[in-house]
Amino acid sequence: MERISHWVNNKVVKGTSGNTGKVFNPATGEQQAEVDLASVAEVDAVVAAAKTAFATWRSSNLSKRAEVMFRMRELVDANRKELANIVSLEHGKVPSDAAGELARGLENLEFACGIPALLKGGYSEQASGGVDVYSIRQPLGVVAGITPFNFPAMVPMWMFANAIMCGNTFVLKPSEKDPSASMFIADLLRQAGLPDGVFNVLHGDKVAVDRILNHPDIQAVSFVGSTPIAKYVYETGTKNGKRVQALGGAKNHMLVLPDADLDMAADAAVSAAYGSAGERCMAVSVVLAVDTVADALVDKIKTRVPNIKVGPGTDPSSEMGPLISREHRDKVAGYVSNATAEGATVVIDGTDKAKDQGFFLNPSLIDNVKPGMKCYDEEIFGPVLSVMRVKSYDEGLATINANQFGNGTAIFTRDGGVARQFQFDVQVGMVGINVPIPVPVSYYSFGGWKASLFGDQHMYGPEGVNFFTRGKVVTSRWPDPRTSSVNLGFPQNR
Ligand code: NAD
Repeated sequence: MERISHWVNNKVVKGTSGNTGKVFNPATGEQQAEVDLASVAEVDAVVAAAKTAFATWRSSNLSKRAEVMFRMRELVDANRKELANIVSLEHGKVPSDAAGELARGLENLEFACGIPALLKGGYSEQASGGVDVYSIRQPLGVVAGITPFNFPAMVPMWMFANAIMCGNTFVLKPSEKDPSASMFIADLLRQAGLPDGVFNVLHGDKVAVDRILNHPDIQAVSFVGSTPIAKYVYETGTKNGKRVQALGGAKNHMLVLPDADLDMAADAAVSAAYGSAGERCMAVSVVLAVDTVADALVDKIKTRVPNIKVGPGTDPSSEMGPLISREHRDKVAGYVSNATAEGATVVIDGTDKAKDQGFFLNPSLIDNVKPGMKCYDEEIFGPVLSVMRVKSYDEGLATINANQFGNGTAIFTRDGGVARQFQFDVQVGMVGINVPIPVPVSYYSFGGWKASLFGDQHMYGPEGVNFFTRGKVVTSRWPDPRTSSVNLGFPQNR
């Protein structure tokens, strides 16, 4: 059985804790590898390596860092196919979907190549007589990233590219469910010329996460995962004096107005609900059908769903793969099985597929969903699309704003004025106008509102640079014997 171990100082380091986790092939349901789970002592050793590396890395010049990142961008691009296959084998998403994940991850590397321009400070000459004031941004030190299973390559790229370009050293704790992509990325960073200890991978479970959260030498933690764990990571990390950004779960609504292009809306809903088997934090999980539009829209979605080809990533014709684990597959199926008893209408029941070998489900469509039903109130994170019928734009907007999550949302309409009002009113961090999955390009920042994000800074882009640096302001005067005197008054320039 393949054994996946840690990555420290640009080398694979075998785990010594004696604890391991199982890594499955979700398409067959079989275990395909074993991953080491770190003990507290192993976390400490990795952090020590990153701390040693920090002293040199933070002194490296900006063009050297950028050179490494440019090479890394080329290496990821050249190895896209292999990395997509690694992602597909452990996560289950089809390789074309994994390739999309890498394309978006590459954007973050490209953005990071230009970070020197964002590390420029301000300079005020002659703030007072002979006194200049200027600001600089400096790295924090050793920082950690804790990532979810659903984007095992892209989400680490959201974090480490900015972190190391800003001069920090990085400890990645990837999901133990699909840990191989991070090892492949680590080796590419080595090939790109990143010095030892700047990027490290530590596999683990709660033991490792808890040590990261209370380790005195870790300055900041960037987390992406489910809401309960995000909240825990935020509260524990900040209590221990760390800077934390913790992105959580989602329930993304797509509001379809009567004037929308219904075919376009149906295509978008199907693509955004069932792509990656719904295991995306930006997946559309609820369509809010306004007034007269509902019957026609449900019909259009209903005719499209059976055309989705569900199968393993090894079959090039597959469009949707399995879910990540048996337990998760069964939990998702449970939402569909219970929906009728809750008063909803199951239009398409995809749970039959749950009998297959592997962790497959077919897409499901549930109509007449309402707040108070479990299939609405909870994040399902699977190939299940709910339709809620609302009487008006106002009722749709109020529904979205009343939801506990605020990650992404979309409005489908031809009316620019209504779309603009929606962007003004909606309490959600990322908004699409006739765009179902509005993941911001890398020179903006990614993040939701409410229970979808704990912390102040969004992920990647300019806010990612702020997160991984801290400001310092220098007030400077060069000795000039003509103006020197003793003055005990408070420094001022009037
Ligand atoms: P998860 O919360 O189970 O795991 C995320 C990370 O936390 C993993 O590294 C895991 O090892 C660790 N972890 C799990 N349980 C823990 C515990 N009890 N204590 C400490 N650490 C723990 O999430 P997941 O199932 O891997 O990913 C899916 C979730 O992530 C969904 O809720 C999805 O919406 C969310 N997600 C959010 C975004 C976003 O940007 N908002 C992006 C991707 C995924």
